Amino acid sequence: MIEAAGRFAPSPSGPLHIGSLLAATASYLDARSRGGRWRLRIDDLDSYRIVAGAEDSILEALENHELNWDGPVIRQSERLDHYQHALDALADMGQVFYCSCSRRDLRGTPIYPGCCRSQTKPVADAAIRLHVGEAEVAFTDLIAGKQSDRLAHSCGDFVIRRRDGLMAYQLATAVDDGDPTITHVVRGGDLLDNTARQIHLMSLLGLSVPVYAHVRTLLSEDGKKLSKQTHARALDNATAAANLVETLVFLGLTPPHDAARWSPSEVLEWAIGHFEVDTVPSGTVIYRRGPVF
Ligand code: GLU
Repeated sequence: MIEAAGRFAPSPSGPLHIGSLLAATASYLDARSRGGRWRLRIDDLDSYRIVAGAEDSILEALENHELNWDGPVIRQSERLDHYQHALDALADMGQVFYCSCSRRDLRGTPIYPGCCRSQTKPVADAAIRLHVGEAEVAFTDLIAGKQSDRLAHSCGDFVIRRRDGLMAYQLATAVDDGDPTITHVVRGGDLLDNTARQIHLMSLLGLSVPVYAHVRTLLSEDGKKLSKQTHARALDNATAAANLVETLVFLGLTPPHDAARWSPSEVLEWAIGHFEVDTVPSGTVIYRRGPVF
């Protein structure tokens, strides 16, 4: 039997904030409460978004919160041959085409209208898109419940290699999460919409599909997702236990009143014993900074 394993996959585009810590804690607790392993992958393919020092600051924050991962840190930038192999396989299946449309050409059309579908032979300066046809993907998210997505109606033929030559998030993530050693993907709710695309790629490539669970997305008071782009405050490592306690509350747990004064590992140990993925709330919630109790 394959041992359970989860993963946390931050992009090194800035320091961790409370929203990313929520995803990390949820995935850690899910893996550990199954007696499984927890891996760390750095999603560093998008060289335009990488911020110098961000990876070190993410590793330092995880260490300070005692979210200890198993095995070496995996970096997507070191796995390009795996993504190329998958791309070649999809091309051999006749599932891809070359799209020369610019962003401007597609402005105002959230669903790709199929204009370049006949370009099945490589052309210069083009993105590579996956032909989604009538694919319909159904899965049950352990937190968000039953999902069903007809890709032609939600996104259309999506990009798997960008026009600038970079492998797209969907393809790289499908290849990495489709590794049989990853059994559970627990991540932020803002990524729920991507899941059907990733499962579709995994199915085409004959990869194993993990179980998914998407935790609540934390919003700032003006209703925007807390993110590096919306300048969410970096975690303060000096208050690691209190930060963890905050995330536990968003996961529907009620830690003991003095838990914020425990060590991070004591908080995590308590949480591993109490975490139940099916009782974690879904949706979005406004994050108001302040004492939890
Ligand atoms: N690297 C992505 C991010 O930081 C998350 C990828 C994932 O969990 O699938 O938003």
